[in-house]
Amino acid sequence: MKAIVVGGGISGIAASYYLREAGADVTLIEAGRQLGGRLAFARLGDRPISLGGKNIGSRYTEFRKFCRALGVDDFEYFGINTSRVVNGRLVAFDQRKGWRALYQLLASNAPRDLWRFFRFAQRIRRHPDDGFADSPFFHAVSARHDRPVLRDLFGARFCRDWIRPMVVRMNGAESDEVYLSTFGSNLRVALDSYDQLSSGMERLIEAFATTVSVRLNTRVRALEVEDRRVRGVIVDDAGGHSQRLAADAVCVALPAPFAAELAQPHAAELAARLAQVRYFPVHVIVAHYRRPVFRPEIRAVLFDESHALSNAGAYGANDLATVRYTFSGRAARPLIVQRIDNEALISLAEQTLSPYMPVDRRDRLHVTAHTFDPGLCAFAPDIEALNRALDTQSALAGAVFTGDYRKGASMEACFVAARACTARLAAGAVHAAPQDTIRVPAPAAPSAAVGSGKTNPG
Ligand SMILES: Cc1cc2nc3c(=O)[nH]c(=O)nc-3n(C[C@H](O)[C@H](O)[C@H](O)COP(=O)(O)OP(=O)(O)OC[C@H]3O[C@@H](n4cnc5c(N)ncnc54)[C@H](O)[C@@H]3O)c2cc1C
Repeated sequence: MKAIVVGGGISGIAASYYLREAGADVTLIEAGRQLGGRLAFARLGDRPISLGGKNIGSRYTEFRKFCRALGVDDFEYFGINTSRVVNGRLVAFDQRKGWRALYQLLASNAPRDLWRFFRFAQRIRRHPDDGFADSPFFHAVSARHDRPVLRDLFGARFCRDWIRPMVVRMNGAESDEVYLSTFGSNLRVALDSYDQLSSGMERLIEAFATTVSVRLNTRVRALEVEDRRVRGVIVDDAGGHSQRLAADAVCVALPAPFAAELAQPHAAELAARLAQVRYFPVHVIVAHYRRPVFRPEIRAVLFDESHALSNAGAYGANDLATVRYTFSGRAARPLIVQRIDNEALISLAEQTLSPYMPVDRRDRLHVTAHTFDPGLCAFAPDIEALNRALDTQSALAGAVFTGDYRKGASMEACFVAARACTARLAAGAVHAAPQDTIRVPAPAAPSAAVGSGKTNPG
């Protein structure tokens, strides 16, 4: 089977990995000049870093299998060490102190909220599959409560102390912007403990890129569809040349708004559902200082909804002089959308952090930044209906759609979603026409080989 995967973020990488495991001949097409998408590789001085996804949960079973398969599994402890500012004072929660620390922090909240929270947390512990955004359990509870957002279910104080720190980090959202139906995906991530790769995410992705054929700087403009069956894609390279690429199967692994654009000419209703998925923008700055900013016992500080800076944290458990500042949530959006100058943003970040962790701009050695827009996924209002529509759509036989909008806004959820989608594709493609019988109509635009893409033969 010849398969094309559209989008070289972690969802497309996961889909390519599973399709290759199923024996497909895979071509991965990426519009940008490097793979990784929202892992957002960059340089800080001469050091490679990731401005996006990098923390790997102990329960990231699929993602860890992928790392091991590529021989890149040098995990180092990252943990969750999060301090919050409460009444002008830092209150630390170090995960290594375990449930006792969690209990102490929870004790000041309403019993009804605590009971609900622990009941949900227990459910995730006993049924890990409910820790994804498409959990039937959370959909049922949500339907019983008339599909509330989290702020409707939990009290204001609990939202401020517990729900908002979770959803602003994972969805870039406030507690009135995330539905109960997808809360399992937040809890699973919040209850996990984290590592990162000592050698960095970039090395992992480089190792992966040697296993399939990759075309960079190549944008998929349209799906090629005949008789309601996908026959391939039409791509544009960076030089503006178009080309048709035939395939037996296509996996669209893009953020939902971009997937909607590709679906629109062939499956308008599906495209309309995809367009409803919400993403909130995020701006990340990583700065390296001459001396440590954080201390081993305090490695991250979360700020409340009055601040544009949602959190500041050490880049690694032993990297206390490199700080990752994240602007997300409602107060941050105007600054991100107006593309406020980076120097102004880092000054604001340092001013916000300084009262709790003294940080001096004169100690700043290197800075790098990235705006994510689409940033973090906060899902469709009715994710169950979207997933059902995607799984049963018939206008685009031979195509599947995967991404963070299906099971959750984490790398593990992207892997689990890609595994499910590609399994269907691999099974369906048994009946697909062999490649040499595919009819490709004459190109409408000038056709040329895509010259600028990097190809890594498998
Ligand atoms: C700041 C931040 C921090 C995060 N931290 C973590 C973390 O620590 N741990 C964790 O598990 N998760 C984390 N996440 C979440 C995780 O990184 C994302 O959910 C995941 O990277 C999304 O991957 P994706 O492949 O679905 O989408 P993307 O990464 O957006 O990939 C889509 C790709 O498609 C390409 N593309 C777009 N249109 C086209 C086209 N027409 N043709 C070809 N290519 C196209 C884009 O260039 C892009 O490379 C974080 C996310 C952010 C934003």
